[in-house]
Amino acid sequence: MQTRFSKNPTPLQPISDPLFEKKRIQVWIKREDLNHPDIQGNKWHKLRHNLAAALEKGQTELLTFGGAYSNHIAATAFAAKEYGLKSIGLIRGDELADNPQRWSHTLKLASENGMQLIFLNRQEYRKRNDASFLQTLQERYPNAFILPEGGSNALAVLGFESLMQNLQEQCPQWTHLYTAVGTGGTLAGLVKYASPYSGRKILGVATLKEADYLLPQISQWIGKTEVVDWELLTQYHDGGYGKLSENLRLFKSRFETDYDVPLDPVYTVKAFHAFYQQLQQGEIPPGSNVVLLHTGGLQGNSV
Ligand SMILES: *Cc1c(COP(=O)(O)O)cnc(C)c1O
Repeated sequence: MQTRFSKNPTPLQPISDPLFEKKRIQVWIKREDLNHPDIQGNKWHKLRHNLAAALEKGQTELLTFGGAYSNHIAATAFAAKEYGLKSIGLIRGDELADNPQRWSHTLKLASENGMQLIFLNRQEYRKRNDASFLQTLQERYPNAFILPEGGSNALAVLGFESLMQNLQEQCPQWTHLYTAVGTGGTLAGLVKYASPYSGRKILGVATLKEADYLLPQISQWIGKTEVVDWELLTQYHDGGYGKLSENLRLFKSRFETDYDVPLDPVYTVKAFHAFYQQLQQGEIPPGSNVVLLHTGGLQGNSV
């Protein structure tokens, strides 16, 4: 299997700030944005085992769902091309169908990478997880391997096993791990494959409003095996999915200048900002070793 995925572990980059010294903590960024030039960050981990399963079953197409700014749509289009598969994206919003000049950078990129885009109105799109709708789709596209929205399923969760082993080797003493949450597949994978350690906690920062509804699904993906504490933080969405206040815009540009690490405007900026908030609120005890997971998503920067 040909892939440009970096077999080498991504860097664990230490960062410094007078605030970290004052609070007596250490902080690193786990640079998963560097794991693959195109299918970057958490999306690559979520796709890997699904791609292998599709090839094993002899399927020739990947079919999936997403909004106009979905990093998963962009990643699936790239992955399909790289693995010699066709790809079909069912996109939320039929107003875009005859209006390619209004397509987002993400949709243009997906289309350039050979993804066939099919636009669904919002009512149709809502059926994306219904068994009967999926059955009809499978009959219509018998050669397609169907991936849910955001690419989150059991095989996606499995993709985080090697990342967590790698982090454990790079920093056995880590205590706090922050990640952004969309569907929660990534958070579930991190929790499921974390090794036990005293005081260890994984914090998922929800990027959408009222994200508590994700909890049952996340718990189900984790299964019975959880050996570390975890929490879904629902108060740091900054106005909702895809919204970015002036305050966070400033945070993003300051962070990028200070550490020379680009952030995406939808996910990593909110996860990293939530960490600073929690630190200031005294939620992180002295002596903690904090890892901020850079989940990628940088293709979305060029909207
Ligand atoms: C999709 C995405 C997430 C959210 O991942 P989930 O597994 O859906 O929770 C986080 N960060 C980035 C950069 C993403 O593209």
